[in-house]
Amino acid sequence: MSIQSYKQNPKLANDYEAIIIGSGIGGLTLAALLAKEGKKVLVLERHYTAGGFTHIFKRRGYEWDVGIHYIGEMQRKNSVLRKLFDYISDNNLEWADMGDVYDIIVIGDKKYEFTKGTQNLKKQLKSYFPEEAEGIEKYFNLIFEATKHSQSFFMDKALPPIMSKMAGSFMRKKYLKFAEQTTYSVLKSCTQNEELIKVLTGQYGDYGLPPKQSSFAMHCAVVRHYLSGGSFPVGGSGEILKTIAPVIAKAGGTILTNAEVDEVLIENNKAVGVKMKDGKTINAPKTISSAGYINTIKYLLPNAISNKYKLKENLSKLKHSAAHLGLYIGLNGTPSELNLPKHNLWIYPDDADHDTCVTRFLEDTNNEFPVVYVSFPASKDPKWNERYPNKSTIDIITIIPYKTFEKWKDERWMKRGDEYENLKEHFAQRLLKVLFKHIPNLEKHIDCYELSTPLSTQHFVNYEKGEIYGIDHSPSRFKQNYLRPHTPIKNFYLTGQDVVTAGIGGAMFGGVLTFSAMTKKNILPKVMKS
Ligand SMILES: Cc1cc2nc3c(=O)[nH]c(=O)nc-3n(C[C@H](O)[C@H](O)[C@H](O)COP(=O)(O)OP(=O)(O)OC[C@H]3O[C@@H](n4cnc5c(N)ncnc54)[C@H](O)[C@@H]3O)c2cc1C
Repeated sequence: MSIQSYKQNPKLANDYEAIIIGSGIGGLTLAALLAKEGKKVLVLERHYTAGGFTHIFKRRGYEWDVGIHYIGEMQRKNSVLRKLFDYISDNNLEWADMGDVYDIIVIGDKKYEFTKGTQNLKKQLKSYFPEEAEGIEKYFNLIFEATKHSQSFFMDKALPPIMSKMAGSFMRKKYLKFAEQTTYSVLKSCTQNEELIKVLTGQYGDYGLPPKQSSFAMHCAVVRHYLSGGSFPVGGSGEILKTIAPVIAKAGGTILTNAEVDEVLIENNKAVGVKMKDGKTINAPKTISSAGYINTIKYLLPNAISNKYKLKENLSKLKHSAAHLGLYIGLNGTPSELNLPKHNLWIYPDDADHDTCVTRFLEDTNNEFPVVYVSFPASKDPKWNERYPNKSTIDIITIIPYKTFEKWKDERWMKRGDEYENLKEHFAQRLLKVLFKHIPNLEKHIDCYELSTPLSTQHFVNYEKGEIYGIDHSPSRFKQNYLRPHTPIKNFYLTGQDVVTAGIGGAMFGGVLTFSAMTKKNILPKVMKS
């Protein structure tokens, strides 16, 4: 069996060629790429279920996705990301198109549709802001210009350190020119219209930082990613793990849940395996951490090693991304009976810009939510009705300061007491109120709901401040050259979202880069030919 639990006496091989810590899409991508080359890998996951943010959870007869609401580029069958998904799932993962409109930005009473296709989107935006046609053109040119230079920036990350020392600064230079600027400053060079800026940055929740704080490179990556529309896995996000795990198993690999790694074992500056939380050790010639940079440096490497290489000094240059609340709602009725759309809603206050809204909410959470993101997964999955007849689900997400829930951080999951539950209920009611304001007919169909807090993210996916997207995507992040697969320790590598950027695509490219760093092979030509 390819997925086993560490608690249940798993049958392990004694000759794994690599150990990957963390079974998120970054770790799974790397594991599958290695497996396709015949390598037997062991993926260790501390949660009781595998998949990282791609995991689903089931309760009260419903199923909810945690960290996937839409993925771009899947309808372009020859896009690198689509080919990569096809390759690591042996073509077994199918994608459902979300239709012509993938996002709607709601600002007060106004609605702005993001339509599939660059030309369509441009046209749509120009119809909302006819006097800004020139600025909109300039904006799209900048998006494509930045994207063009991203390839060599990220390719540098896979180079051996010595080669990167020689060629790296040249390879990074052009992209860094964009990455070093905030989204807002670049947009200001295109238009003075603040409403247009607010609309163009209406997907900022996809990377968690408002325009005056985020890097323009991250903004570009997200906008461009969705230009050809949004897609959702047929059968739900759980299909991602279901289709990739057999590929890993075919080469003799294993995914182990309930398997928390305590420390990476290092001898003579070489990684030789891991020590598990229960003290047992597992050895392999190569070890890779997909558990996030901060986790890895702070908790998984022995102190003597991180001190030797001054790795903890890097942490002071990084910030956690925002924490979030997730409201998972179950409804009576099919998506079509309830008239649920496939597109997402991004609901914003209309009295201030994004940065002001975020700042005032982080200072006082009684202020209006700076963003309320609403996704309708049941209507996105064409197999939903056969899997969950007469039911629907909705996910709502907003930002929340970690400190709002921090005082319960040492309490056990489900046992955090009445005060915690009451605070959750307070936020759940406020989020429901926003939903009902925009889609009033849903109120009578609500069957159940459950709110996740930053402590849920901490508990299930091990992000210490409940951060939603790993390291935040400020201009400074892109200058941190150590966010790359190679580490100063021989045979020890990093992968996943912190190596590239957040997002399923970003984390998967993390897997691709780490594969290249480990094997000195560029796998993409093979992926594209497959
Ligand atoms: C609410 C939310 C919505 C999102 N929506 C989208 C979306 O619609 N589209 C999109 O493209 N992206 C979305 N994302 C982002 C995307 O899900 C992530 O960027 C991506 O999944 C990260 O993958 P990863 O493999 O780097 O890390 P993760 O998925 O976080 O995996 C890391 C894994 O490491 C494990 N781990 C940590 N420490 C240890 C240890 N000591 N031992 C063993 N295992 C350990 C964790 O339990 C976890 O499973 C969303 C994220 C969130 C949180």
